[in-house]
Amino acid sequence: MILDIIEKKKNNQVLTKEEIEYVVLEYLAGNIKDYKMSSLLMAIVINGMCDEEIVFLTDAMLKSGDIIDLSMIKGKFVDKHSTGGVGDKTSLILAPLVASCGLKMAKMSGRGLGHTGGTIDKLMAIKGFKTDLTNKEFIKQVDDIGVAIISQTSNIVPADKKIYALRDVTGTVDSLALIASSIMSKKIASGASNILIDVKVGQGALIKNIKEARKLSDILIMLGSHYNKQTICFITNMDEPLGYSVGNGLEVIESINTLKGKGPKDLTDLVVSLATSLVMMGKKIDKNEAFDLVNNNLYNGKAFLKFQQMIKAQGGNLENISVSDQIVSIKSIKTGIVAGINTKKIGELVRLMGAGRLLKDDVISYGVGVVLAKKVGDFVLLDEELLKVYIGDKDVAVNDLLTCFTILPCLDKRNPLIYEIVGEY
Ligand code: URA
Repeated sequence: MILDIIEKKKNNQVLTKEEIEYVVLEYLAGNIKDYKMSSLLMAIVINGMCDEEIVFLTDAMLKSGDIIDLSMIKGKFVDKHSTGGVGDKTSLILAPLVASCGLKMAKMSGRGLGHTGGTIDKLMAIKGFKTDLTNKEFIKQVDDIGVAIISQTSNIVPADKKIYALRDVTGTVDSLALIASSIMSKKIASGASNILIDVKVGQGALIKNIKEARKLSDILIMLGSHYNKQTICFITNMDEPLGYSVGNGLEVIESINTLKGKGPKDLTDLVVSLATSLVMMGKKIDKNEAFDLVNNNLYNGKAFLKFQQMIKAQGGNLENISVSDQIVSIKSIKTGIVAGINTKKIGELVRLMGAGRLLKDDVISYGVGVVLAKKVGDFVLLDEELLKVYIGDKDVAVNDLLTCFTILPCLDKRNPLIYEIVGEY
């Protein structure tokens, strides 16, 4: 049967509800081998899926596990997800920030995917932090303090967890159908009524151009309305890493600085815009009022306090965050303006250093990564520092990191941080 389904998708035919359900549930049960599933995933990457197939796929993923019932908790639940970027640590900041504004965020996050980092891997850099709460513990924590971030438990969309890990190592990440069903199944299963998706676009993202980002946004909004969830998509820039840090522990430190009101401008601006949007949706207030609430809580310590509460509730120790103490400084070999940063390559190199996985069960080095000293548009002198590398036990290709920077006499054009907002408030 699985072979017939692979042949069908290879020939660009539409799969039925029964076929899709069969594949998802039998793969989860271990009755379809990884190599057959990868072959089907590749056919989906190449030939895509129509809206109907995407709904069936999302439904099948949902059917593979529990749907969290948040109805016993008072409050308005909002949720956010990013399609993935390099240095994208927004969830770590946004979740407590939004909770400090009186909304509830019961967030289920993923581990790294392809060259992009994952919120769960970042949080695991905090010693003791538990990402695998039971449904009961998860719900209790959200009820008590308004926020929790967990990895998919074995009960919540387990099919996505297994398929996601396979996609990560088989070159089958970048399919709109697979991305949309993966994201929305988790969002629907975790029970929020208002969903915000940050669709990253650019050479450091899974989605490479605005046209594709719009298509993905339309699919996400179609799925949202199918499940009766208000869904808004932000299409945002991933032409350079977000903030300065890339690598799990290093990104936690940058998130903490941002929660203390001392974060990099691009990261802070994006977090504030996303939080404003969630507060508008969740509290049904206008943009100015939402912005003021968010902005105040970022600078008056309330968001950081919420973060500390969340980390403590999940067993983490903020005094003990993995960061390598083996640091190498990389200097510019030219004077000029940083006109571009090969963000995907930075993500790949940091992954090679051990911050991400190349094989499904690879062990992560939480302390490795890079901290940029210069971003796009910055002036750099010959021999001035471009970035610091935090090394683990794997070799680092210093020259490859240097080639990630394009340094020119001037900068032609800068893309905006936020391209578009799709969906209705
Ligand atoms: N984020 C997800 O949760 N799934 C994907 O497939 C891509 C990004």
